[in-house]
Amino acid sequence: MKFESIKPRKPSRGSLTAQYAEINALLDQKALSHAMQAWDNARRAYESWSALTYLHFAQDTTNADYKAEREYADALSPFAIEMNTNVKKRLLSECNHADVEKHVGAHAVRLWECDVTTFAPEIAADLEAESKLEARYTEILASAKIEFDGKTHNLAGLAPYTESLNRGVRHAAETARWAFFAEHAEELDDIYDRLVKLRHTMAIKLGYKNYTPLAYRKMRRVDYDAGDVAHYRTEVLEYVTPLVARLVDERRRANGWETIHYWDEKLIDPAGNPKPAGGHDYLVAQAQIMFDNMDKRLAHFYKSMNDGGFMDLKNRPTKAGGGFCTSFPTDGMPFIFANFNGTHGDINVFTHEMGHAFQNYESRHQPNIDYLWPTMESAEIHSMSLEFLTYPQMDLLVGPDAADRFRRMHLIGALEFLPYGVLVDHFQHDIYANPDMSQAERRATWRRLEQIYMPWRDYGDLSHPETGARFHAQGHIFGSPFYYIDYTLAQCCALQFWAKSQEDYKASLDAYVKLCALGGSAPFLSLVESAGLISPFAPGALLTAVNTANAVLMA
Ligand SMILES: [Zn+2]
Repeated sequence: MKFESIKPRKPSRGSLTAQYAEINALLDQKALSHAMQAWDNARRAYESWSALTYLHFAQDTTNADYKAEREYADALSPFAIEMNTNVKKRLLSECNHADVEKHVGAHAVRLWECDVTTFAPEIAADLEAESKLEARYTEILASAKIEFDGKTHNLAGLAPYTESLNRGVRHAAETARWAFFAEHAEELDDIYDRLVKLRHTMAIKLGYKNYTPLAYRKMRRVDYDAGDVAHYRTEVLEYVTPLVARLVDERRRANGWETIHYWDEKLIDPAGNPKPAGGHDYLVAQAQIMFDNMDKRLAHFYKSMNDGGFMDLKNRPTKAGGGFCTSFPTDGMPFIFANFNGTHGDINVFTHEMGHAFQNYESRHQPNIDYLWPTMESAEIHSMSLEFLTYPQMDLLVGPDAADRFRRMHLIGALEFLPYGVLVDHFQHDIYANPDMSQAERRATWRRLEQIYMPWRDYGDLSHPETGARFHAQGHIFGSPFYYIDYTLAQCCALQFWAKSQEDYKASLDAYVKLCALGGSAPFLSLVESAGLISPFAPGALLTAVNTANAVLMA
């Protein structure tokens, strides 16, 4: 299968209306099995087209055709959601649930019960406006042209300087980076203000007290709630923040610095963060050897991704930032996107997105489209665990001399991520509980919470992030509200996979592959249990995972 051969048909209001009229006619005739099949086919076709449209825009945010196509998708999406919501409502109200479950399993029914509470035609225009604002955020960040070291960089291209071994270079690079954000601060604050108010308005129209409970339902969180998440944040604060404070201080002492500034934090290894031993082509080739050594299922899958052109990993000007995995459910193939810049981050993003891709591929035989991806906290287990499960192969990617140092750096990074992750989550809970906050109050909220979860943070003379504007650089806060806690829940599970892999690597990898194949056929806590992991919400689970990591770092 080749990426170029994926050419989904462009839908329209007319084509969707005709397609859904057929599905509804089958439901009228009580032909449940045929109706469900036709509906699943329709959703797959739409999702494949939508995925390709958003991928194209991310590949070049300045391409006028891609942008027009994305805007067309933004406008059509609420109509498609409406059609799907109507089918879900009919299946839930007119059909015997046991009959429906025979076709798709019990979990899908639970997901749809959740979905139908997140849409009404009254919010269709708001959803389109929301997508446009999210796209504008992506465009602004992708437009960065930062002069540094005699070259012009986008944000991904500037990043290697922010972890340079040379302190002056790191400081200068962060200064340049925050000058870019300061220049766009007014528009970024304005975009965020509009997004918060739009989301609040949609929640009120749907009968919620604010956006938070709506967001939980949009994320399809059916087996835990905001109370569980708040408790998890306090566990991170109690057990992880002091540990990270100690790790940060150890680095301060190892480097002989009086204070550790913001621009020092990314230099995790005092000898210099280990880098990939080669560029894009090298990593792509070495990865095949890595997966060949690990497991034939992973090896075979990676070969089809690479041979079929289902990867776009090179950094280019005007490409959207970050990394992601998307998929084409008509064809059963995923696609991974990243911006390699020569740092250890290339390895992290590659193994991470490959984890998502492998899960999606392993789940391709699941009976309906709702199970091709799990909810995001479960999806991040697949991606973050593969970062750990590739540890034994790291000499292939960074060279034999740097492999131990890479693993240590990654493990420290995994722990340091947790306080930041829950900060992003706590911030959003406060923001959406008080949608009328001024922009200054939002920034003050960020800075106040940052001082609680990350008390070591010292911005020095970087006056812009000192105001609380650090959140402008976190895309999820704009484009994927309430997503972030999912990474921290998954990290607790990924650390457990890693701990198990040290005792019995093969058993751990097999359990991982099995979990991937389950896809989204069950909710988070059931998936966690089925893989023999302890729920991050269970008392002591986080502490045990973190202590295991700490013991290795201290050894
Ligand atoms: Zn991910």
